[in-house]
This record gives sequence, structure tokens and C-alpha cells, in this order.
Amino acid sequence: MRQFELSAPASVEAAVAGDGAFLAGGTTLVDLMKLDVLTPARVLDINGLSLHGIDVGDGLRVGALERMSDVAAHPGVYPVISRALLLSASQQLRNMASIGGNLLQRTRCTYFRDVAMPCNRREPGSGCPAVAGANRMHAVLGTSEHCVATHASDLAVALVALDAEVRLVSAAGGRTVALTDFYRQPGESPEVENVLRDGELITEVRVPGLDWAAERSTYVKVRDRQSYEFALCSAAVALDVEGGRVVDARVAAGGVATVPWRLGAVEEALRGAPATVESFERAASVAADGARPLAGNGFKVSLLKRTVVRALLEVTEGSR
Ligand SMILES: Cc1cc2nc3c(=O)[nH]c(=O)nc-3n(C[C@H](O)[C@H](O)[C@H](O)COP(=O)(O)OP(=O)(O)OC[C@H]3O[C@@H](n4cnc5c(N)ncnc54)[C@H](O)[C@@H]3O)c2cc1C
Repeated sequence: MRQFELSAPASVEAAVAGDGAFLAGGTTLVDLMKLDVLTPARVLDINGLSLHGIDVGDGLRVGALERMSDVAAHPGVYPVISRALLLSASQQLRNMASIGGNLLQRTRCTYFRDVAMPCNRREPGSGCPAVAGANRMHAVLGTSEHCVATHASDLAVALVALDAEVRLVSAAGGRTVALTDFYRQPGESPEVENVLRDGELITEVRVPGLDWAAERSTYVKVRDRQSYEFALCSAAVALDVEGGRVVDARVAAGGVATVPWRLGAVEEALRGAPATVESFERAASVAADGARPLAGNGFKVSLLKRTVVRALLEVTEGSR
């Protein structure tokens, strides 16, 4: 690990006026500093800032420094969010890791995490060995020739499905950005992962009120082992069903794309359809449209469709 200067700003204003990497739980930042993937000269410990609180009213507001475990355990949090959190990492990590840090965790691509290898995300223009290399874990959607790394956050998938927003603050002022607009697909510039400006802080996450998500939502995560593992594929689903028909739907996928992937075409196919296995399979058949599988990850195309169906069946169990 390289030497760095550590300070702890006393206010949000002081934090965004400073120059350095924000430290919350440190479970990504310190990990990547130990690997020399990140080498900040200055680290700003933000844990003393008042970015806390889980408020449930007309929707949900969560402070960026709330820990994953506390948010998962809160009774007012929609099941799709708490399940996504509980299926993430381990209890010890969830006790440390913050909501803001979770949304800004970096990809788990092994080439990105190994400084002996080229990586366009880490060193623009150096190449992407994953395209022709070991790519079983990599993305099939939203990829470019320059990067095929998946987005690793489970929480972000649930939040994208629910139209969540992040509140951002910088020295220039505050702004609110929809999470669907927050992340950037790699395209020509994989090193630019989101729209966050230099020195900009996530202060909170806001989820609009969606009564039926409290009743009928879930997160299904398929992985190589049942705990402490990143997703091969995941699906976040919230469904409004009345009289055996789908009135409204929110669906997003993880583990298969370079950003948390909203499945708008699946939602469209679900609206008005009967809540049956057959119509769920029909809707899920378009989930992987546009996918560009690599040599090692073609299985993700059918896995994505099956994962979406499983999540839809799970939320309608007992009402079909
Ligand atoms: C072994 C292991 C397994 C894991 N498994 C999973 C998993 O299955 N699913 C999953 O979703 N995640 C998983 N994770 C990732 C874990 O959830 C993240 O490391 C954690 O959420 C990051 O939060 P943190 O507070 O520790 O962030 P930090 O490490 O402190 O920060 C992460 C990044 O965000 C920046 N940052 C932090 N807070 C803010 C803020 N408020 N505003 C702006 N920038 C900020 C930091 O500068 C840094 O770049 C795993 C991690 C490990 C180590």
C-alpha cells in the first residue's frame, strides 16, 4: 500500500472542499488500496458527517452513511431492497459497509483488480484482456470492445428497479440524479463509471413511495455458492397484481450487465398480462434482447430469463 495522508473533515462543506478519496466503511477503498489499484495521496474519512437516517414516509430516504446491515433490518424498507442487501457480502462486511460506498463499489473483474494486467477501466487505452480471456463472470449487456466488466452492487439493481434517486453535493451545490442516469456504460471511456464530479459526495438515497412494492417485491440472486459470493445473475422485481392480472411491474437485472440493468421491455410485456407462469415466461423472453455473449458467458442469456421468471413466481406465490 502506498503512503497517504488521512484527515477527517468535520462537515459536508469541508469534505467537498477537500481533495481526496472519501472513506466510508473502507471495504472497497482499503481493499483496492492494498492491491495498488487505487493510490490516493489523500483520504478523507467521512464517518463523522451527519449522513445518517432511515426515514419511511411517502417513500424512503436513507443517509449515505447508513450501514447495509441497518438498512436491511429496517422494517419499513421494501423487501426487494432488504433482500438485495442480505444477499450481499457477509454479515461482518454489511456491518461495516455503507449505502453510499455500496453504490460506488468497483467492478470485481479480476483483470481490473490485478495491476500486472492491462485494463481500460484502470488505465485507459491499455486494453481489455477479458474480451478474449477468462470471461465467465463478465457482462453480456451494455458492453463495448473496451470493457465487459459487470457492475457488482446488488443494492443498485433493486434501487434502479424502484426508480431511486441519489442526492449529490459538491462545492458547486446540490443536485438530484436518477440512479438509472447515474451509472455510465463503458462505451469508449470505461474509466468513467458514473456522472459523479470530482469531489462530489453522495449524501442520501431516495426511493419514491410504491405501496405494492412493500407487499410484493423480491430479489433473486444466482451465484456459484449460496453465500458470500457475487451474482452470476440477479433479478429485482416488484409487481402490482389485481384479480390475477399484472397492473404494474418493475424489473431490473444484475450480474449480466456493465451497469444495473432496467428491463423496461419485460415490464411492458407484463402490464395487463395474467399472472401466470406462461405469461411470465413470455415477458422474460425479451430480457436478454441485445445481449452480446462472450466465449465463456453465453449461459447468462438463458440464465437471465430463468432468473426473471423465478423472481416473478416468487412474488406471486399463493396468488396465482
Ligand atoms: C469479500 C467481499 C464480498 C462482497 N460481496 C458483495 C456482494 O455480494 N454484493 C454487493 O453488492 N457488494 C459486495 N461487496 C462489496 C461491498 O458491499 C462494498 O465494498 C461496500 O458496500 C462498500 O461500502 P463502504 O462503505 O465500505 O465503501 P468504501 O470502501 O468506504 O468506499 C467505496 C467507494 O465509494 C466512495 N464513497 C464512499 N462513500 C461515499 C459517498 N457518500 N459519496 C461519494 N463517494 C463515496 C469511496 O471513495 C470509494 O471510492 C463485497 C465486498 C467484499 C470485500
